[in-house]
Amino acid sequence: MEIQYLEFLKHLVRFNRQVYFDHNATTPVSNPVRKKMDQVLKKHYGNPSSFYGIARQAAELLENARQNVADAIHADPSEVIFTGCASESNNAVLKSLSAHFYPKKRKIVSTPIEHPSIMNTLTYLETQGVSVEYCSVDEKGRVMLADLEKRVDEQTFLVCCMLANNETGVIQDLMAVTKIARQRGALVLTDCVQALGKIPIDVHAWDVDYASFSAHKLYGPKGIGALYVKQGSPFTPLLHGGRQEGGLRAGTESLHNIVGFGVACQKIDQLLLAAGKIRSLKQQLIEQFRRIKPNCVINSPEIDSECLPNTLSITFPGVENSGLMGMLDYRGIAVSAGSACSTGDDIPSHVLRAIGLSDQAARETIRISLGHDTSARDIHYVAQVVRDYLEGRTSFVNMIAAGQLNETILFDENTFILDVRPPVDRKKFKGLPNAHEVNPISIENYLKQLPRNKQILVYCPGGGLSIMISYYLKAKGFKRITNLRGGLDEWRKRRSDLYEKYAGQNIIVLEPDKSD
Ligand code: PLP
Repeated sequence: MEIQYLEFLKHLVRFNRQVYFDHNATTPVSNPVRKKMDQVLKKHYGNPSSFYGIARQAAELLENARQNVADAIHADPSEVIFTGCASESNNAVLKSLSAHFYPKKRKIVSTPIEHPSIMNTLTYLETQGVSVEYCSVDEKGRVMLADLEKRVDEQTFLVCCMLANNETGVIQDLMAVTKIARQRGALVLTDCVQALGKIPIDVHAWDVDYASFSAHKLYGPKGIGALYVKQGSPFTPLLHGGRQEGGLRAGTESLHNIVGFGVACQKIDQLLLAAGKIRSLKQQLIEQFRRIKPNCVINSPEIDSECLPNTLSITFPGVENSGLMGMLDYRGIAVSAGSACSTGDDIPSHVLRAIGLSDQAARETIRISLGHDTSARDIHYVAQVVRDYLEGRTSFVNMIAAGQLNETILFDENTFILDVRPPVDRKKFKGLPNAHEVNPISIENYLKQLPRNKQILVYCPGGGLSIMISYYLKAKGFKRITNLRGGLDEWRKRRSDLYEKYAGQNIIVLEPDKSD
């Protein structure tokens, strides 16, 4: 009896354990930040642009926060503009400078591993006539300076190079990049979103013109960014309106978020001090993974000065990341595949491609990003779960290859087809016949409607989301779960005959159970 009870307790501990290893996607808001933000929300509701007492207090808080951010990046407060997010900061610089220089100067040189808020803005600017060139990076994502030097010419008005990459953690030699840009009279924008709080930042020493930051990567709130604009560097606002932020960014300031950002920046010294501990935990994890799977490939640079202390991109050859991530999620561990923004669309990450990974290798890659609350126990636990998975000791979700999904299965009475596609995909493509559509974001509200005596075949567009949900259903006690590998996209390709004949037939839309 006692042993049974102990087993039960172990089971509970195992499945209630939560390990958050996705700090590059976002971080939890720290207590000091939350407390100060609460206070601002309660007491300091004045509009910083007004003139009476309560507004002046708000304006003072705003300027204090600006000072905190400026101190953290070694800038003058007059050079810091608060924005809605770092994506806005990046957009503002790229669009502002293109409007300022084009067509007198036409070119931007960037790297192929920038965040989508840079990459997609550059793609847009190309449609407006701006010419964009991407310099080469090596297998660790380091900018090849000789190639950069060749590309930056008299036509180049901007060199855009992130300080540290969100997926692999590679840190660039920004001084060298700036030197090359300066030789040709080009300005420099650097995305420092992942670097702030993990490595020291000194925008003045690096002599960059623009730098972008985001509070939610350093235990601050989401929805608040900052932009450094060097004194004298050209800049026109993206948002026109009131005179906020010195006329450079219209819109009433989100004071609680700004103050939260300021408090997060005040804690930077503590965060930087914790970097050594985080790096050594990451190293322990690498060693454990190498023992478990000797042919695993570390995509992040292994030289300390070249990589963020917390970031690890690792490929497990032969192990699809969707299955592994689903399993990790099932055991309470959050990691990501590419950048958070691209997770779910099942397209191999552009960063991994740029550093030379094949599409298959990219699908076998996960990103682990530690935080200041990560413990040695967490490392041990994750390594243990990965070992169990790779050595076949965990209950697997069954997989069915898209080509094998035939009429017998589609019309089998003992198979319940569960469509967990997002609404956009449902608008584009008809689903499997006899499918039951649910809203994948609130899957927990449909559990009572799913049969426990049937095989549940789960599918999504690409096979990634469905595997996560499959493991979730396993955790909820559903025994017979099968995931469609490659999802509807693959099935449409492999079985276009069946798609033409049956897709969209007899679809049932389930209503969420409100009583849960
Ligand atoms: N730049 C990098 C390198 C990032 O990692 C992110 C967020 O993931 C951003 C920009 C965008 O930041 P925000 O979420 O504040 O728009």
